[in-house]
Amino acid sequence: MQNLLSRRISANLLVFSVALLLATIGNFNFWSDFVHAVGGFSLARLPLLAGSFAIVVLLFYALLMPFSFRFVVKPALIVFLLTASASAWFINEYGVVIDKAIIQSLFETDTREAAELLNWRMLLFVALTGGLPSLLVARAQLRFPQGARGLAQRAGTVAAALALSTVLLVLMFKTLAPTVREHRELRYLLTPTNAVQALNGYLHNRWSTPVPLQQIGRDAVKGKHWAGQTKRTVTVIVVGETARAANFSLNGYARDTNPRLASEQGLINFARVQSCGTATAVSVPCVFSGMTRERYDDTRAKHQEGLLDVLKHAGLRVLWRDNNSGCKGVCDRVEFVDVSSPGAGSRHCSEDECYDEDLLEGLPALIRQSKQDLVIVLHQKGSHGPAYAHRYPAGFGRFGPVCTSSEFETCTRESIVAAYDNTILYTDSFLAETIALLRKAAGESEVDTSMLYFSDHGESLGENNMYLHGAPYLFAPSEQTHVPMMLWMSDGFSQRFRIDRACLQARRDQPLSHDNVFHSVLGMLNVETAVLNPKLDLFHACVRN
Ligand SMILES: [Zn+2]
Repeated sequence: MQNLLSRRISANLLVFSVALLLATIGNFNFWSDFVHAVGGFSLARLPLLAGSFAIVVLLFYALLMPFSFRFVVKPALIVFLLTASASAWFINEYGVVIDKAIIQSLFETDTREAAELLNWRMLLFVALTGGLPSLLVARAQLRFPQGARGLAQRAGTVAAALALSTVLLVLMFKTLAPTVREHRELRYLLTPTNAVQALNGYLHNRWSTPVPLQQIGRDAVKGKHWAGQTKRTVTVIVVGETARAANFSLNGYARDTNPRLASEQGLINFARVQSCGTATAVSVPCVFSGMTRERYDDTRAKHQEGLLDVLKHAGLRVLWRDNNSGCKGVCDRVEFVDVSSPGAGSRHCSEDECYDEDLLEGLPALIRQSKQDLVIVLHQKGSHGPAYAHRYPAGFGRFGPVCTSSEFETCTRESIVAAYDNTILYTDSFLAETIALLRKAAGESEVDTSMLYFSDHGESLGENNMYLHGAPYLFAPSEQTHVPMMLWMSDGFSQRFRIDRACLQARRDQPLSHDNVFHSVLGMLNVETAVLNPKLDLFHACVRN
């Protein structure tokens, strides 16, 4: 032992050893949950498990490498080892997840409460799994690569580790993507990245000063086409989920996924629309923010009003009905209804969730009874994966055989695509039902009605071995960013606002994006405000004065 310690070893080797150690002893719980999440241990899954282990080791290695300098590396490795050991204890002993809240309670409880958490068994555990390796790290005699070559060597090591883990990730993507998506808790179990993330989140909350809400479009008013108004207007904005344009037969897809919308007279289908992001949490706030994709800033969007606020300033009543996982802050100041949990006897719900038609429940009565002009946002569950087959009622299983599992490796690509196509078929029906409801309301309740539909982002279905969505925008394949968008207006609506349908129809193949939505909704409803940019308003050139 003494001999071993007195020999100089390369700092690189020490860092790799610690990465290996962190991946194993710090993560018993992570691996046991992971094995469970991929369907249990078996010989056939050995390559998957070994590959996943290699990814974690390589990522930790890349994460630790930047600390590999004299006077820095030892304290850093010791902090990581002790943090990992303590986190592992808490996860194991209390089943807690390491998140912002736990860090907060750690920092903000009084010493008596904190002392209760510490005990001899814990100290022993941390001493053995964190302290002992730390001691070895402290005693190690290290060699460091020198000068510019040394820097290049470190950078090369980080790049190689990241490249290798990316290759492994791509090879196992079909299995890993749905597993990680379905088991988000795994994120909080991976130690010590969970602790780093949690500490970061805690400090961010702690030190950032509350920012007052920035109002926009306070000047918004109804324009001249509202003058002499005799009928109320009802505008429905359908925010789709994970629907990709390529699988709509309206856009040329070989399977007939749009039988109902195809026969919808006067429907305008915009064929070339790009999303703002590749995930709901980016696209939804972005599309309502009025910022373009290039200028979009998540933090600014959180503290600034958006489209729905501007519509309110103009005197419209705005409602958000949600069958998804909330509105990501964009509906904070408008009426909100959550229809996603199976309530008492709703006819559109299965045991666990509700189909999108539930969004239309009670809408005719609401339209009849409201005294104001309405803008109603319907936030679909749409084609959310990986369990596509759960997104539509029995009557919509036209394409098949379908993959009924969230574990993609048990399904063929064709069966995954078939299940996905059935979700588009169901969305086709949902949109047609929405239009039917609005057409009926226009006839019976004497209102002018319209519907704008767009999806938040697309989906990969096995192209280049990619699945699901959320790829960094720069590298995202078009399957994830090319989204459907369509518009329907009652005759009364287009006449009132003097909208030239043929002019819009002629723009159907123009390149458009989520950037256009904010300005086009204001333009369509003839809302006058300084925040409306006519260059991004689809209707600007198509309104006759
Ligand atoms: Zn989404």
